[in-house]
Amino acid sequence: MQTLESLAMDLELSAEDAAFADSFRSFCHKEIAPIADEIDERQEIPRELYNKLARVGYLGLLFEPRYGGQGATYVQATLAQIILAESCGSTFFSAGASAGLFGGPIGVHGTDAQRQQFLPPLLRGEIIGALAVTEPGAGSDVSALRTTAAQTRDGFVLNGQKTYITNAPICDYALVLARVRTGDGKDRGLTHFIVDMQTPGISRGKAMRKMGLRASPTGEIFFEDVQLPADSLLGGIGRGFRITMEAFNKERLALAAYSVGVMAACLTDARRYSRERKSFGRPISKHQSVAYMLADMVTRYEASYMLLMETAWLFDRHLESGGRRKLHNGHPIDLTARAAEVKLMASTFAREVTNMAVQIHGGAGYMEEYRVARLYRDIKIAEIGGGTSEIQKQIIARAEARRVT
Ligand SMILES: Cc1cc2nc3c(=O)[nH]c(=O)nc-3n(C[C@H](O)[C@H](O)[C@H](O)COP(=O)(O)OP(=O)(O)OC[C@H]3O[C@@H](n4cnc5c(N)ncnc54)[C@H](O)[C@@H]3O)c2cc1C
Repeated sequence: MQTLESLAMDLELSAEDAAFADSFRSFCHKEIAPIADEIDERQEIPRELYNKLARVGYLGLLFEPRYGGQGATYVQATLAQIILAESCGSTFFSAGASAGLFGGPIGVHGTDAQRQQFLPPLLRGEIIGALAVTEPGAGSDVSALRTTAAQTRDGFVLNGQKTYITNAPICDYALVLARVRTGDGKDRGLTHFIVDMQTPGISRGKAMRKMGLRASPTGEIFFEDVQLPADSLLGGIGRGFRITMEAFNKERLALAAYSVGVMAACLTDARRYSRERKSFGRPISKHQSVAYMLADMVTRYEASYMLLMETAWLFDRHLESGGRRKLHNGHPIDLTARAAEVKLMASTFAREVTNMAVQIHGGAGYMEEYRVARLYRDIKIAEIGGGTSEIQKQIIARAEARRVT
């Protein structure tokens, strides 16, 4: 019999989830939202912000308590991500690259020694991590990457270049994807390495100047004959592509949460401004075209929020099993396609919503004093990072082609 799996989702937050969301929201409103514009201008996230996010448990949400994590569900983590994104996109991105993109794969694929070494200090905000996959010639097409790790008797020698890496200018460690070659020149496949950024032979470029997310540093990393010990390997030789795709899958859920958080911030600002600002003798919210923009904004926000929360709920139940059950529409649960769908939808809607929020603010919306200008700049990345919208469509279309009519 078909399982009416997602229809059974309880749409009410539990008392525990609601209490956690309330206390994290108070923290973000007090500690993060007030400095978001200032750090955007300074183009730097204060290091103590990582410690503060650690103290309230944000960095460790999805990690096991024995490594200093909170053991939270995806539903709880997604709520927290929405709330942080609403307050500051740059903080969301840098914290996510460190704990989620660097720490996440170590939490799943690391040896116990690797988890013990890296996770506790990472989740306390004492070290900062990055995930280095993209290269000048390999973005959407990860398999085209050219960074190599030549296997030697004692370990590996890394050569190559990475670009557009979140936290590259400041990170202490990076999880680097490279192609392993054995002494006889044989290709052993894509493989991840945990790399100490102080290792001789590593250099990094300056933080790149960006359209948005200006406080979150992005940059290049260069590797020239970097000697890596054998135990820097994560998850085994040749397992790098799978580990990367698994990390991207979770990143897509996070980027959908980011998009929902940005839409929430736009709604708050557009509602307030449109009720205060008057033209032709009435608040602009009373003009039908502005009221309809608000209607479009709230519809996009709520549709994205619901699909996101349902997807987080499905992640909680089916990430481990790979999803052998069926959804209410009879389709097998395919969490990869679902994460792509929710990221595609939420990021597209969020870009449209930021545009409407600026439009409702008129000339003021173009000025940096108003938060909507930053939100408009900050949202574009959601359609690019973690795989572009075109790549999400490819993933969804492949899953669609497998479905029976
Ligand atoms: C602010 C920022 C932070 C980032 N952080 C990180 C990070 O921490 N770690 C990391 O590894 N990377 C990071 N990236 C890189 C990001 O993941 C890539 O930019 C992204 O995957 C796209 O790759 P690309 O830039 O090479 O674009 P390309 O792959 O060159 O794509 C260019 C265009 O062609 C389209 N395209 C490409 N192939 C196809 C296809 N087969 N079918 C249809 N259309 C296609 C794309 O959709 C896009 O529109 C970051 C990027 C930015 C901007």
